[in-house]
Amino acid sequence: MAATIASQSSAALKFDLVARCSTTRARASCLTLPHGPVQLPMFMPVATQASLKGLTPEQLEETGCRLCLNNTYHLGLKPGQEVLAAIGGAHKLQGWQHNILTDSGGFQMVSLLKLANITEEGVRFLSPHDGTPMLLTPEHSISLQNTIGSDIMMQLDDVLVTTSPDAARMREAMLRSVRWLDRCIAAHKNPDRQNLFCIIQGGLDLEMRRECCKEMIARDTPGIAIGGLSGGEAKADYCRVVATCTELLPELKPRYVMGIGYPEDLVVSVALGADMFDCVWPTRTARFGNAVTKHGVLNIKNAKFAVDFGPIEEGCGCICCRKGDGGLGITRAFVHHNTAKETVSAHLLTLHNVWYQLNLMREVRDAIIADQYPAFIRQFFANLYPNKADYPEWALGALRGVGVDLVEDET
Ligand SMILES: [Zn+2]
Repeated sequence: MAATIASQSSAALKFDLVARCSTTRARASCLTLPHGPVQLPMFMPVATQASLKGLTPEQLEETGCRLCLNNTYHLGLKPGQEVLAAIGGAHKLQGWQHNILTDSGGFQMVSLLKLANITEEGVRFLSPHDGTPMLLTPEHSISLQNTIGSDIMMQLDDVLVTTSPDAARMREAMLRSVRWLDRCIAAHKNPDRQNLFCIIQGGLDLEMRRECCKEMIARDTPGIAIGGLSGGEAKADYCRVVATCTELLPELKPRYVMGIGYPEDLVVSVALGADMFDCVWPTRTARFGNAVTKHGVLNIKNAKFAVDFGPIEEGCGCICCRKGDGGLGITRAFVHHNTAKETVSAHLLTLHNVWYQLNLMREVRDAIIADQYPAFIRQFFANLYPNKADYPEWALGALRGVGVDLVEDET
């Protein structure tokens, strides 16, 4: 492995930059958190109710996952703050020795509860249990996350869909997110053992994103997230926002793009200089019978798999596909047979999909360290799209912007 280029430490986080791609903005780094080191770039699976649907903590560990995401909103409702405090936090609750990142709870509320209403004070909503009015403030979100004991906590932010045409409201949300970060910092009780990340907002307006970057960087949080994306905007717009932000962000801090999980989005976003990602898609799609593979998504419910005795993906090292060495040697036919009625298929595909995502990021990291990332990107797209004519325009454009031309340059 390459030697560390540069490091930065705060009380509960150490960031070591290990390698930089000499063509794109991709970086490989090691992030040391209170529950151990994690290698970046990385994908974080989402364990909604302190468990990844269909996976035990041991199985999640076996995929190589060392940092998973929990939802503050769900944990706050059940088991609730009192129980979490009594048991000593979410690591103990779920028997997870490794790192946890929690969201602020705000996004879940706004997206799950139709009656959520945002004011300067916080997010007002009606309890889904008994309909009583409740209020999530920056202080309350941080108090919950302090009790959860997550290694990385996210600030409460004012999130608006990027496609909103209301520029004034977008600006209000961006400025309010900065003010709420200040309240989160003031409320944070455990900066010695928990890291609070800021979230850059500003929709698709690049000038507003730049302004927000400046404000957030000045607050010097141990890590920085780019938020509000994956809300239905065009992928080219998404790439412009990420590239605009990474250009301004300090090199020696982790950069987390929230809500991103399609493999081609990960590969392109890493080239644009992002390090961390999360998304429910790989686990959710498993429950619909979909396997993520390097040749694209396969729906194992398709009748043709009934007599396909190959693994879910040829060459995959996950516990389902692997033969020997503790692997189960599961066939597509077996998964297909169970998809109609049994949850076992969802479990198997969840294991495979999580492993696929984490392994993709391991390969990405190895390629960056070997300074072969442009070649890796070419091979990745060649596997996914047999015809170059099918390469998505947004990816071609974004990659060209960081010096990789997938169509012209064959070297
Ligand atoms: Zn597999």
